[in-house]
Amino acid sequence: MAEEEPLENLEEYVDPADTEGDQAGTSGVQGSYAGVQACSFRDMLLKDDLFRAIGDAGFEHPSEVQQNAIPFAMVGTDMIVQAKSGMGKTAVFVIATLQQIEVDTEDLHVDTLVLCHTRELAYQISREFERFSKYLTDVSVGVVYGGVNISGQKKMFKEKCPAILVGTPGRVLHLINEKAFTLDKLKRFILDECDNLLERSLDVRRQVQQIFVKTPRDKQVMMYSATISPEARQLCRKMSTKAEEIFIDDKKLILHGLQQHFVRLDEQEKIRKLTDLLDVLDFNQVVIFVKNNKRAGALDRLLKKACFPSMVIHGSVSQKNRLERYKQFKEYKARILITTKIFGRGVDLERVNIVINFDMPTNSNEYFHRVGRAGRFGTKGLAITFLTGDEDTKVLEEVQSRFEVKVTTLPQKVDASSYMAN
Ligand code: ADP
Repeated sequence: MAEEEPLENLEEYVDPADTEGDQAGTSGVQGSYAGVQACSFRDMLLKDDLFRAIGDAGFEHPSEVQQNAIPFAMVGTDMIVQAKSGMGKTAVFVIATLQQIEVDTEDLHVDTLVLCHTRELAYQISREFERFSKYLTDVSVGVVYGGVNISGQKKMFKEKCPAILVGTPGRVLHLINEKAFTLDKLKRFILDECDNLLERSLDVRRQVQQIFVKTPRDKQVMMYSATISPEARQLCRKMSTKAEEIFIDDKKLILHGLQQHFVRLDEQEKIRKLTDLLDVLDFNQVVIFVKNNKRAGALDRLLKKACFPSMVIHGSVSQKNRLERYKQFKEYKARILITTKIFGRGVDLERVNIVINFDMPTNSNEYFHRVGRAGRFGTKGLAITFLTGDEDTKVLEEVQSRFEVKVTTLPQKVDASSYMAN
């Protein structure tokens, strides 16, 4: 059980190293369905070696977005795909790419480039490519991101250029400018969490565009996200040709198995409430979101002091440690992860069944991405949000009106079977 600590003490726990690198977010969405469906992976007539790996991964039936999108994507159609978080969008472009790729072992070059906004996501996507290409022995996968020494990455290209490259835009551009590799023979250009790459900051968008202009005209362009604003959609259209636009209905955005509640309280009551909840709730793993790096670091120190098994990942943690901790959390070495919005999107943590917004995000998209960390791929989950002021309430109202979801007051007792898988 934790000691009672007022929030001022959270700020006292601040380590200056935690305060750099806090980041900002995005907006928007609209919806309609596409018609073509294949109801099983077998119907998709995939390469044997790919079909086998899908079976090994335990994928029995394609999800709705997979049924709708893979048949188009695997024949080279440009794609703009929006579907709720956790429904397997990654597998759409991974399967579509591996189905089409032909590696010329005499002339190794980057055939497929996937850009995404965080290093953890880049790593996770590269792991998905590896998982599904395990029987496609000519296919090699490379991953590059900033925050680590560039010379090792350059060496990778010299020794053996990967056919599939996953990376963050800044580092990819840097490597191209340093002539580590070219995109002259690129066949597929993929943006994951595309709205974030195109709208989050002008710098990132410019980097993406600078990379894009280095690619050949004739290529497949695929863009994916859980939320795509009308503005981002326009940008996506400009970058693609006759793209198949698959927008799984906006109203269905919220995960069905996810229970969502809020607690209205004062800032200085938050720590007490949090520790009470961690004491009484059953969970496999919990992710706690706070609004910036320094609060993340401080909360981690306080929880550790109160003997909770927590770890922290935020933008000021060194790249090596971030990835290390991410792996440890995925391997269940800690039960509680404290983080910021850098972890709000895309990252797949299958054992997480509770998400707590210690600080309310500043917009409804961010809320949606965060709570999507629980209840992945249709499983159950619980999301609890702390609300302190009018701003927080406004964001919650926006969430309810956009996604037609009921976020209710946290009841005295939450039955574990309602958010834990059986
Ligand atoms: P998204 O990119 O839409 O957020 P992910 O691609 O991260 O979703 O998928 C979420 C989880 O669901 C991952 O653990 C993934 O391995 C799993 N998954 C995806 N498609 C299937 C499927 N057809 N059957 C079973 N599990 C799946």
